[in-house]
Amino acid sequence: MAAVFALFLVALATVFGSSAADPDMLQDICVADYAAGVKVNGFVCKDAANATAEDFFSAGLAKPGLTNNTFGSLVTAANVQKIPGLNTLGVSLARIDYAPGGINPPHTHPRATEIVYVLEGVLDVGFITTANKLISKTIQKGEVFVFPKGLVHFQNNNGKGPASVIAGFNSQLQGTVNIALTLFAATPEVPDHVLTKTFMVGTKMVDKIKSRLAPKA
Ligand code: MN
Repeated sequence: MAAVFALFLVALATVFGSSAADPDMLQDICVADYAAGVKVNGFVCKDAANATAEDFFSAGLAKPGLTNNTFGSLVTAANVQKIPGLNTLGVSLARIDYAPGGINPPHTHPRATEIVYVLEGVLDVGFITTANKLISKTIQKGEVFVFPKGLVHFQNNNGKGPASVIAGFNSQLQGTVNIALTLFAATPEVPDHVLTKTFMVGTKMVDKIKSRLAPKA
């Protein structure tokens, strides 16, 4: 009897443990009503009778983004915040552009696996497993690479020309935790003593990094 019950628990865990992405939808469409005052997990649906093609459309990824910034890269989103019709659908895209030498610095997506397709250029990409193993490769135009959900990853343009990718996510809003900015540019600040102990360096070094990563006023 106990064995049967244990088997039942395993079966239950298999069924409920297999949902590793956004929750499944309960209706055809749920176009986000950004103006709704009610807060839910995602966005409230607007009346389906008022849905239009524009709710499911974006031209935002057609052109390269400007990469003249600190890291020499720009992520242009096509997620539920840009395309209201993506609400509850569990997918989204982004375009990432890289200047020569540009980097999309180490970061994680708490809610999605990412798959990139190289539009142009050559990129050194990689992710680090929870066992601290670096999985990395150089990829070029037409090639695809995958960054598993939640793992720290990066893309670096070591090439002489610009590079760009289209990134797909199994979430309507993948979320991004930029490791450097999270630790050194949070508001309020992460205390210096937390960072000096963590990185085993002095306060001067921590303050130097903080000042360089601080948002430009
Ligand atoms: Mn990413």
